[in-house]
Amino acid sequence: MREHRIAAVPGDGIGQEVVRAGLEVLEAVAAWDGGFRLRVETFPWGTDYYLDHGRMMPVDALARLKPFDAIYFGSAGDPRVADHISLWGLRLAICQPFDQYANVRPSRLLTGIVGPLRDVGPGDLDWVIVRENTEGEYAGAGGRVHRGHPEEVGLDVSVFTRAGVERIQRFALALAQTRPAKHLTLVTKSNAQRHGMVMWDDVFEIVRLDYPDVETDRMLVDAMTTRMVLDPRSIDVVVATNLHADVLSDLAAALSGSMGIAPTANLNPERKYPSMFEPIHGSAFDIMGQGIANPIGALWSAKMMLEHIGEPSAAAALMAAIEAYTACDANKPRDLGGTATTAEVTETIIGTIEGRNV
Ligand code: NAD
Ligand code: MN
Repeated sequence: MREHRIAAVPGDGIGQEVVRAGLEVLEAVAAWDGGFRLRVETFPWGTDYYLDHGRMMPVDALARLKPFDAIYFGSAGDPRVADHISLWGLRLAICQPFDQYANVRPSRLLTGIVGPLRDVGPGDLDWVIVRENTEGEYAGAGGRVHRGHPEEVGLDVSVFTRAGVERIQRFALALAQTRPAKHLTLVTKSNAQRHGMVMWDDVFEIVRLDYPDVETDRMLVDAMTTRMVLDPRSIDVVVATNLHADVLSDLAAALSGSMGIAPTANLNPERKYPSMFEPIHGSAFDIMGQGIANPIGALWSAKMMLEHIGEPSAAAALMAAIEAYTACDANKPRDLGGTATTAEVTETIIGTIEGRNV
């Protein structure tokens, strides 16, 4: 039997609740498939660990994660610790050293879900946002000088390398090639940011020639927000910087129904390091501990993880069960207008996988 090693890092807040749900569903879908087994090890890293040890994860964390086939992640962030400490100490501390440079964020209006856009139904909103995930605005370059004094200076320097820009653009072009619409939009802000962003445009004009079957266009990031709202059918795959795609993909999640639905994959396409799969949402301080988080973002992320580790039929079965749930008239979680708990949603989806809901 095929065996895959999964490292679960639930982290903080509702990350713990939705990863627990995701692991139950993964176990059910593996049993349904019958051809593979998941060996899951859970690492209790995050803010509780930080308050005990002074770090979000142990010194040897990366060495311990390296042998796994994939990482299943929840969220980093807790009201007891500043956000930049939790984010840099856990999520970014895994993404950057493992060179997970391609952050893939699908958004699709699932059957049965009513999004906020008028006259936009399933099939009208089916996007993949590809986010550069290792450099740019979140490279971590910068500093603070004269700290605490009136003349204090704070600098965050965007770092764009030609190699980094080229590899993410090639990844997005190749992804667009696999989709029916074969369309890619390059998003930059090269009118105002005249160095790194213009380099993005220049590199794009060269690399896109290697993908002649992909139709391309270019947009400035501010204009892209209006296009997403006013003309969603014109968008297929989007490639953008770390910051721009971070913002655009939260908008995309909201337009497809809820932040609680959207998944993401942090890929090291060369498979030199394990890739990481997580819902795009954070710890949701306002609802954490109540058992009412929507697990669909974590479940859709688990589906992407199954595809990545080479289990496409299990991935398809899981996605079909998610869509059967969104399409049916069962009680929905709070963010989708209902009162269902995380456990109830999870149980319904497992029931579909096991063939109990007919
Ligand atoms: P958030 O995603 O945690 O919450 C935004 C809003 O969406 C909240 O109202 C929340 O209740 C709702 N929401 C999010 N996920 C939901 C779900 N599954 N079901 C139902 N409702 C859901 O974003 P935030 O409030 O900006 O951040 C809170 C904390 O999470 C911060 O510490 C932040 O740094 C962290 N965060 C971490 C990650 C990550 O680790 N990848 C991502 C985003 C935010
Ligand atoms: Mn974000």
